[in-house]
Amino acid sequence: MRILVTGAAGFIGSHYVRTMLAGGFPQYEDARITVVDKLTYAGNRDNLPDTHPRLDFVRGDICDLPLLLDLLPGHDAVVHFAAESHVDRSIDSGADFVRTNVAGTENLLAACLRTGVGRVVHVSTDEVYGSIDKGSWTEEWPLEPNTPYAASKAGSDLIARSFWRTHGLDVSITRCSNNYGPHQHPEKLIPLAVTNLLEGRSVPLYGDGAHVREWLHVDDHCRAIQLVLTRGRAGEVYNVGGGNERTNTEVAGRLLELLGADRSALRRVADRKGHDRRYSLDDTKIREQLGYLPMTPFEQGLSDTVDWYRDNPHWWKAAKSAEAAR
Ligand code: NAD
Repeated sequence: MRILVTGAAGFIGSHYVRTMLAGGFPQYEDARITVVDKLTYAGNRDNLPDTHPRLDFVRGDICDLPLLLDLLPGHDAVVHFAAESHVDRSIDSGADFVRTNVAGTENLLAACLRTGVGRVVHVSTDEVYGSIDKGSWTEEWPLEPNTPYAASKAGSDLIARSFWRTHGLDVSITRCSNNYGPHQHPEKLIPLAVTNLLEGRSVPLYGDGAHVREWLHVDDHCRAIQLVLTRGRAGEVYNVGGGNERTNTEVAGRLLELLGADRSALRRVADRKGHDRRYSLDDTKIREQLGYLPMTPFEQGLSDTVDWYRDNPHWWKAAKSAEAAR
């Protein structure tokens, strides 16, 4: 079994690859993995082992067709994580988002088709649905993305579906809620708050802080992706949620408690443009059809995540200084 994983120097992809290399996915204990990652500011080579007998790391761009046509032959499956992933950056400029997320995904799927790759999982996001005041999205909900990031992910999500419908490519799509866990870039809400508090700095909170996100530990997301890879059906979309809905103020408040800080460490900042109010997924389909069950309780996962950032300052300090110099 040979798997090519894109974007696996990033947060979720690296967790997926580390789990597979550690034998965490049944029947994939011997799988060989090729990682293709451009190593943008968000990618960190240290997220993966330096060397491993079952891992090949290629620094490359998913927009590079000759590279993909060279690498893909002989691979049984592709799991596609590579993306520009930070909403705030997409508000500053959406160009890289359209290039990598839309054009890059089309390029990758075209290369899969040409080289006869048997199976593809495209990792999408709940943000493609927009924002929902009440209730939860099922997979049939219309896509109404509100930010350039979400719109570029919706574009790639629909391109993936079109490759199934038009060309018969065996591709499934996952739409997951907000992830948290170790190795997440400190530009994102939870690691930003944790690392700021560890540095004795304040935590910025957008607007009234009442925006609701559904938090899922990265380990649960990766197990869901593996379930979809092995048991999901071609052309199908699978929502992946955790049921842990929290306002940003609640999450920040819990982090203050875990790090022994008080509310004065919270700093209100002007709201993000186009800020989605609430995300909520109905993930009955993946639970009933594929047997998915999230395992990491939010309290435990959050506390372990805080411990990881406390124990690994070298990992996040470099990313934060690069961010500050931007
Ligand atoms: P990340 O930003 O941490 O990692 C993205 C990786 O992609 C980086 O290693 C980067 O170097 C690489 N990359 C970027 N452009 C590339 C290109 N052109 N060619 C090759 N590699 C490139 O992102 P993440 O949080 O790990 O998210 C992974 C995927 O999961 C994304 O597709 C994202 O949309 C999706 N997702 C994320 C979340 C979340 O909460 N983080 C939730 C749902 C879905």
